[in-house]
Amino acid sequence: MTDQTPQATRRLSALVVDDSPPMRKMIVFALSRIAGLTLVEAEDGVDALRKLAGARFDLVLTDINMPILDGLKLVKRLRADENYQDVPIIIITTEGAAEDRQRALSLGANAYITKPIQAGEVVRLVRQILKIGER
Ligand SMILES: [Mg+2]
Repeated sequence: MTDQTPQATRRLSALVVDDSPPMRKMIVFALSRIAGLTLVEAEDGVDALRKLAGARFDLVLTDINMPILDGLKLVKRLRADENYQDVPIIIITTEGAAEDRQRALSLGANAYITKPIQAGEVVRLVRQILKIGER
């Protein structure tokens, strides 16, 4: 086999948080190219906190605008949680949302991606943040 699938050297898991099911599906589909990466979806900040409490995640990707508990509050909550104060967080923002982006980064998010999501860009960023080698 000579496929170019990036390989994770150990089992890693990522939580994808977005209130838009198509957006979640798209991100999960893109990241499914990374072998050894388990992907879990959450539909808002509260659902994310519930899922984060019951497992150990290596990465959180979160939308900003969500009902119930938005992405900014989620970042704030995670940075105040001793189990997740160091977990890498990638925020998903819209092109025009520079203020939200700055706020999320100042609250402790590590990086951001901008909608419309480019699959290759998300994969590259996640591999870089999780320090997953090419092969
Ligand atoms: Mg949203």
